[in-house]
Formats: sequence, C-alpha cells, structure tokens
Amino acid sequence: MAFKPADNIQDLQYFGEFGGVNPSISDATTFTFVSAKTMSDTFEGNTEGCHLYARHTTPSNLYLSEALAALEGTETANVFGSGMGAITAVLMQLCGAGDHVVSSRTIYGGTYAFLKNFAPKLNIQTSFVDITKLDVVEASITPQTKVLYCESVSNPLLEVADIIGLAALAKKYNLQLVVDNTFSPLSISPNKLGADIVIHSLTKFINGTSDTIGGVVCGTQEMIDSLRSLIDGAAMLFGSTMDSRPASSILKNLRTLHIRMKQHSMNAQYLAEKFQSDGITTVYPGLESHPSHKIYKQMMNAEYGFGGMMTIDAGSLEKANALMELMQKENLGYLAVSLGFYKTLFSAPGSSTSSEIPEDEQKEMGLGEGLIRFSIGLDNDIERTYQLMKGCMKTVGILS
Ligand SMILES: *Cc1c(COP(=O)(O)O)cnc(C)c1O
Repeated sequence: MAFKPADNIQDLQYFGEFGGVNPSISDATTFTFVSAKTMSDTFEGNTEGCHLYARHTTPSNLYLSEALAALEGTETANVFGSGMGAITAVLMQLCGAGDHVVSSRTIYGGTYAFLKNFAPKLNIQTSFVDITKLDVVEASITPQTKVLYCESVSNPLLEVADIIGLAALAKKYNLQLVVDNTFSPLSISPNKLGADIVIHSLTKFINGTSDTIGGVVCGTQEMIDSLRSLIDGAAMLFGSTMDSRPASSILKNLRTLHIRMKQHSMNAQYLAEKFQSDGITTVYPGLESHPSHKIYKQMMNAEYGFGGMMTIDAGSLEKANALMELMQKENLGYLAVSLGFYKTLFSAPGSSTSSEIPEDEQKEMGLGEGLIRFSIGLDNDIERTYQLMKGCMKTVGILS
C-alpha cells in the first residue's frame, strides 16, 4: 500500500490539558517526580514517558516529534533548535576522529561549511561528489566511511538524489544514509526509499510562516535514543534544543502542510513550464527537461507534486539583481533567503546562500552567477503572477 504521510499526521489525536483542541504548551524546563527512585531511573534512561529537564525532552517537543515521525514514517524523531543543530548533531553522533563522510557537493551552504571547514578540525574528512553518479559515489567510499550524506532535492541546483540507489550502496558498505529532505516534505519520503536518517530544517516549508527556526531528525528509536543520551548524546550535550513554544507553534502549522505543498508545487510547475517555453533556462524537477525528472517521478508521493523550488538563469548577476529588485518593487515576492513562505522568495545563491562555496567550485558544479533561486509562494492566480513576472523580465532585458 502507498505510504500516506499526510493521513498519518492527521490520524494523531492530541487534547490539551482542559480538553483543548491543541495540546497544551508545556511551560516548564524541569519536571517533578513523586518518587526519588523514578528520578534516578530516568537519569539512567530507564523510565518511559517521564520528563526530566527540557534540554532532554518536553511534552510539546514530543508531540511535534511524533507528528514528524508520522510525516517520514520513521519509528520516532527528535526536534532541534535549528536545522543546522539537527545536521551537526547527527554527523557528530555518527562520526569520530579518523572517520570519513561521502557527501553530495551541492548541499546547503551551512552543511557544506561544517563538513569542509569545521569537521576536519576533529579529523573527520569529507569527499564531496556528484551525488547523481552512483559509480562516483561508490568509488569515493573508503574503509573509514561512516556516512553517505545528501539532500533529496539539492540546494540550490535542484539535483535529485537517487535515494533507492544510494540506500543500496549504504547497505552494501554498512554506511548510514542521511538525507536532508527540507526541499521536498511530503513529496519525497526518504525513509520509505531506504534512507536511515531523515533531517529537515523546520524553518522552511514545514513551519511555512518564516517566523520560527527549528530542525528535526527522524530515525530509529535506537538512533534517537543515542542522540538524546545523557552520557554521550550529541543532542543532549551540544544542547541545540528546541523550546516548547516554537514546538507548539510548528505543530499547528504542520497541520496545513499538505494543502500548502500542493499549491507550492502547482504554482512552481506552472511558472517553470511557462518560463521554459519562453526560452529561459529553467530548472525544476517537474520539467521533463530536468536530468532527474524520471527518478523524482519514481520516488515521489505523486499528489504533492515536484515541490516549490525552481531556478532560472538570468544570464548575469547584474540582470539577476535588476530582476529581483523589480519583482520585489512590483510586490511579486521578496528578495530574501530562505524558502517555504506563503509569498515567493528569491535570491541569487552564488552571492548569498552558497557564498560559503568558493567561486571556482561554484563554477565547476554549474552554479552560475546569474542563477536565481525561487521559492514559489501560494499565489491564488498564478497566471496573473506569470504575466507580471514576464513584464519584469522584459523590462530588465531577460526577455525581448
Ligand atoms: C535552511 C536549510 C538548512 C539549515 O536549517 P536552519 O533551520 O536554518 O538551521 C539545512 N538544509 C537545508 C536544505 C536548508 O534549506
């Protein structure tokens, strides 16, 4: 039977303390015990369902974690104070000095900077590879490799990882396949395709209102327990914990994720097709011209479409900047980083979100300076948006 992530979330039933339709926000960082014995058992990790201290768990965090585990179909999950908090905790939990990571070379700038600049200080080395080439990935695996790391749809080039193929490699070499699914919630379910650990920045589509930062790691009970261990857990010891109020707020927004994703995808598909037929270099996984269109189609939960992210090439940084400024002036979206907002957001990744990546490496991976990354919004009348955007493109000389 097909995996139905939105239905799994819907099937969770929570009541607040006084029968409220939303669970109560837990307004405490520390929790009382009736018996001293239970407290010491909890320290040893033996007592189910007992809360100790908010850096470990809170009821609000557990509600959100449970809903996100339902989204990804994993045994359980743990929420973090940010996406980077989740990513770094997982990598630090899985890798020690002398270990090796094989990572996609087109990943979120912060993740790239962590693996490239920070992890080597701990003697953790990373090979950055073209993740779409399974033979290249396999050839990069060494006896020290512990982790295969990728994004299901990569930032900012929208390369699509063949998760089924990567999972087979991970199995063969006994690696953990870690997938950042921030760009494609609901649309792709990496765990169902064989990924061991699924990460999201909740800051983006899942929260969807660009007002709260958060992250999550979805995985087995064993993995989540190890992250939360009081003795040697990276979540517990690095302390990138989420607070209860944002957890409660994100859970409410998660309720409408399926409706939002369908609209983001529908609008992005519409614009991508129009721009492409106007002769603009457009990258969107929903276009047949996308090199991984077929793979995405095989992997996807079809009803949610190909997601809200697309790129166009404006030809030069000057034209890209002029177009973005004009589109903002015309109120078609905001010149801002991040994604998943109700309003369209656009930025030139070469000089912003991917500026951690050196210029020559940007060129090599196909990240041109005229590239504009769009997170397409929830616009009601997308033909109207298209006409207005086309007008802006004519004004700045991208279309004649
Ligand atoms: C934003 C983002 C992150 C980092 O998340 P934060 O919540 O900003 O820490 C990681 N991966 C991807 C793909 C992102 O877009």
